Amino acid sequence: MKKIHVIGGGLAGPEAALQAADAGCQVTLFEMRPHRSTEAHQTQDFAELVCSNSLKSESENSAPWLLKQEMRQAGSFLLRAADETAVPAGHALAVDRELFSAKVAAMIEAHPNITVVREEVTHLNENDADTITILASGPLTSAPLAAELARLTGADHLAFYDSISPIVDASTIDMDKVYFAARWDKGTADYINCPFNKDEYNAFIDALTGAEKIEAKAWEALPADGQPTEVTTAYSDLTTDHSPLNNTPVAAKLQYFEGCLPIEETARRGRDTLRFGPMKPAGLTNPKTGRWPYACVQLRQENLRADSYNLVGFQNHLKFGEQARVLRLIPGLEHATFLRYGQIHRNTYIHAPSLLTETLQLKAHPGILIAGQLSGVEGYTESIASGLLAGRYAAALACGEQPTPAPRLSANGSLVHYITHCDTKKFQPANITFDLLQPLDESERKAIRDKKERHKLQCDRALAAWEQWMQAQRSPALAT
Ligand SMILES: Cc1cc2nc3c(=O)[nH]c(=O)nc-3n(C[C@H](O)[C@H](O)[C@H](O)COP(=O)(O)OP(=O)(O)OC[C@H]3O[C@@H](n4cnc5c(N)ncnc54)[C@H](O)[C@@H]3O)c2cc1C
Repeated sequence: MKKIHVIGGGLAGPEAALQAADAGCQVTLFEMRPHRSTEAHQTQDFAELVCSNSLKSESENSAPWLLKQEMRQAGSFLLRAADETAVPAGHALAVDRELFSAKVAAMIEAHPNITVVREEVTHLNENDADTITILASGPLTSAPLAAELARLTGADHLAFYDSISPIVDASTIDMDKVYFAARWDKGTADYINCPFNKDEYNAFIDALTGAEKIEAKAWEALPADGQPTEVTTAYSDLTTDHSPLNNTPVAAKLQYFEGCLPIEETARRGRDTLRFGPMKPAGLTNPKTGRWPYACVQLRQENLRADSYNLVGFQNHLKFGEQARVLRLIPGLEHATFLRYGQIHRNTYIHAPSLLTETLQLKAHPGILIAGQLSGVEGYTESIASGLLAGRYAAALACGEQPTPAPRLSANGSLVHYITHCDTKKFQPANITFDLLQPLDESERKAIRDKKERHKLQCDRALAAWEQWMQAQRSPALAT
């Protein structure tokens, strides 16, 4: 049996390692931290959540719920850890990030088939016939490894950006001005809501749009037409082991992921745009007035101690001093202490439609699989999901079998179907949504008018197809 190397101890890597090890394979898991860190990680822990602590919706028959249900059915190790370390977050699955990482570390340490190597991988050997490699080094893959990937994949390798929300010390929130509520009274009232009147909102928007931004650096620059830069340009310094953060500022346009736009960018699109986005007041009745406020910022609990909260959807690219000034205009946060400010970070991913098979193997080098954000999926849960698949596919390959791709009808299969079949010119990393699932046929759409009912049918089909696929799987290594 071939050995399996997993590169990256973030979200996809540990899930892949545990899946392959559980199937009976010998796995070596490489992680470069603490010797070398990324621009976003703050610990040396496995499965560090670098920004929000949310693994998204748990509302039944929503697309993120479906993805998680499939993963639970397939015995996802990281989802089990998430379920065991969940903190109250209304309809979402949010975790205590430290406990979550500790659980994942314990599972890895306890597994007899996993060896952990704490070193930076700088070379990929595509000709090693004895090893299956899963590359799960994430959106902040270190420079030498990204250069190696560029060598193997050619120039179809992109770089772009997304962002981090600020975190506030709970003890510094003015609780007389804010209130706990669940939107539309659905679920428990776990969010703290900071209500704005019209004047407060307008003053906030003026301050936000006038605040000073951090300038784009050469390493994150994109051409003025906003098209993603090819790796040869975006990583021009890779081979010199140069920290991209040290490059000098240039006047260039950043390409943001639409789902993660900085608030100052959203505010620039129109005075009311934030009121219809992350500051939406609908359904958040203020008990003091009995009405919805004009606008609202929601704060989500960060940990089980409830001593810190993140500002939901408030990622931004402002200078830290400016953030303190602007964010203290939020009612209730006038005297807030910020434990972390919003930030923008590099995000690296391959051009999956050109490069990957449906079993996450590089077409040109089938002994190398790509998982996690690097493969073109977007989000914590999606990264774990692709790690789960990659671990299982790698286990089959290690035993000389060709793995069967996850079914198209399932959420997991749809996600990989999207990244591997998307129009090559339009490719952008994706979260799981119903748009990616196999649509109902015309007659079904006509027969079922209610969107919720249609989603339920899609979910039922997905779970049935997924169950069937899992039944057909066996642990190839254990079976021999
Ligand atoms: C700044 C930022 C904020 C984000 N915020 C969110 C969010 O709030 N919610 C959300 O759902 N998604 C978010 N994402 C997107 C994505 O879900 C996360 O990046 C997620 O952690 C991706 O999982 P991963 O396993 O692919 O990569 P990672 O979790 O980053 O893991 C990759 C690991 O590989 C290691 N590594 C890198 N290079 C090497 C090397 N050469 N040798 C050995 N090890 C190496 C890294 O140290 C890291 O531990 C964010 C991404 C970024 C960059």
